[in-house]
Amino acid sequence: MTLQGQHALVTGGGTGIGLAIARALAGAGAEVTIAGRRAAVLEAAASGSTRLFAHPMDVADEHSVATGFARAVDLRGPVTICVANAGIAEPSNIREIDLAEWRRTMAINLDGAFLTFRAALQGLESESWGRFIAVSSIAGLKGLRGAPAYTVSKHGVIGLVRGLAVDLAGSAVTVNALCPGYVETDIVTANTARIMARTGKDEAAARAMIEGANLHGRLIAPQEVAEAALWLCGPGSGSVNGQAIQIAGGEF
Ligand code: NAP
Repeated sequence: MTLQGQHALVTGGGTGIGLAIARALAGAGAEVTIAGRRAAVLEAAASGSTRLFAHPMDVADEHSVATGFARAVDLRGPVTICVANAGIAEPSNIREIDLAEWRRTMAINLDGAFLTFRAALQGLESESWGRFIAVSSIAGLKGLRGAPAYTVSKHGVIGLVRGLAVDLAGSAVTVNALCPGYVETDIVTANTARIMARTGKDEAAARAMIEGANLHGRLIAPQEVAEAALWLCGPGSGSVNGQAIQIAGGEF
């Protein structure tokens, strides 16, 4: 498969799952804009690659997304592969979460995906080929204990994907969601620390709890999620549209 001539934009592309997806797309020949809030993180991720381009952008800020996309399109052409991956996961009990924290999760995880997809679509000709991929979560398909805002935001992302897929059906653009279980990234590192603080368990025991939550009993590598994204951009997946694809070691 070659993605030569395609311009991909991956939000949250400087770390974790987003960086693995960006590298996979670049490896297949695409030019990949990686977006996030921390310029230094993006620069470090892009250094040494001729196909990764650091691009500071805050997905929760409409103006930042609009100007960020305009700049990226000026530099590398319309975004034909758009990966709405940026997200935060800060578990908070329903009795403790305040409205500001709730809104912050929605602003980044859900509004961010909407603003990202809308900006990419606005820059595409109506007949253009496109692959839109959102990184949701198994929390987009089932309730995640102790994380109501995250659960709602990730369910919302799947709703966005399904709605857009119906609207765009018959065009050359597909819209799908990837729904990983627990993946070996900074989010899991932070969760491990939270479990240790809450339960008094040591690091190995806290990590084992997270591993055990995946049905196959291990953490998922970011590259495993990237492989699924690559497949969605490949020649054989043009009829896959509006799907929430689990990458979780089993069915939830
Ligand atoms: P991560 O390394 O923390 O990645 C999150 C990325 O999102 C960071 O690069 C971060 O960069 C970016 N980001 C956060 N807020 C942003 C904003 N307002 N604007 C632009 N970028 C923003 O963790 P990850 O696990 O790879 O997470 C990627 C996605 O996978 C998230 O949507 C997460 O919910 C989802 N997911 C993760 C897991 C897991 O177990 N790790 C499981 C299922 C789903 P900056 O901080 O520099 O902005």
